[in-house]
Amino acid sequence: MHTHRLELEDATLREWDATVLHVDPEQGLVLDRSAFYPGGGGQPPDLGVLLWGGVQTRIEGARKGDDLYLVPAEGDPVPPPGTAVRGAVDDARRFALMRTHSAMHLLCGVVSRDYAVPVTGGSMDELTGRMDFALESLPDGFLDTVQQACLVEVAADRAIEVSEVPRSEAVVKTAIDLLPEGLEVVRIVDIVGLDRQADGGTHVASTSQIGEMRLLKTENKGKGFRRIRFALG
Ligand SMILES: [Zn+2]
Repeated sequence: MHTHRLELEDATLREWDATVLHVDPEQGLVLDRSAFYPGGGGQPPDLGVLLWGGVQTRIEGARKGDDLYLVPAEGDPVPPPGTAVRGAVDDARRFALMRTHSAMHLLCGVVSRDYAVPVTGGSMDELTGRMDFALESLPDGFLDTVQQACLVEVAADRAIEVSEVPRSEAVVKTAIDLLPEGLEVVRIVDIVGLDRQADGGTHVASTSQIGEMRLLKTENKGKGFRRIRFALG
C-alpha cells in the first residue's frame, strides 16, 4: 500500500493534509496520507470529507485492495491526482466506534478471565456490539455478574496501549482478529492487566472513556455458543 496510515499511529487525529496519488474510477481514490480507518477486525470504516480549492468531496467508505481506496459519494467532484487536499474524519462516528471497539475488548477480557472460555466471534456498530463465546450453558446470574465486572473495569480506568512487536513475539489469545498471512510485525492492543490482542483497530486511551456500558441480553446461538449484546450510553 502507498498510503501512510495516520490513524494507526494516532487514533485522536481528525484533520490532516494530504496529496491525491491515484484515482481509480471503479475503486476510489488513494491518498499519500490518510486517517480514514478502512474497516477491519469488526470495526466499520470511517466517514468524512476531503476539502480542496473550495470543493468538498464526501467520503462514504473505504476499501482495502492493492491500495487503500477512499470511496467518494456518488455525484461529488473527485480531486485529480496531484491535488492537495485537507482530509477530515467524522469525529462523532469515529469516537463512538473507538469506544465500542474498546468495549468489545473489555468484554472479551472479562469473560475470558472470569469464565475461561474463548471468544468465537463478534461484530460492532456505533455504540452497539455483540460477542459470541464458546459456553455450553450459562451459569446462574451470568449477565448480571458480567455486567458488574464490566462496570468495575470501566471505572478502573485501565490504560489501553498500542504497540508493535515482531510476529514471533506476538503471543496472543485472540480468536477475534486473525493475523493475516505474511504479516511480519503485529500490532498489539493491550488493556493493561485485562486483555491483550492482535488488532488493527482504533481504540480510546483508557477504559473510562468507554463510558456507560449496558449488557442487554444473552442469546443462545446453538450448541455450545452464547452471544452477549451490549450498548453504550
Ligand atoms: Zn479488536
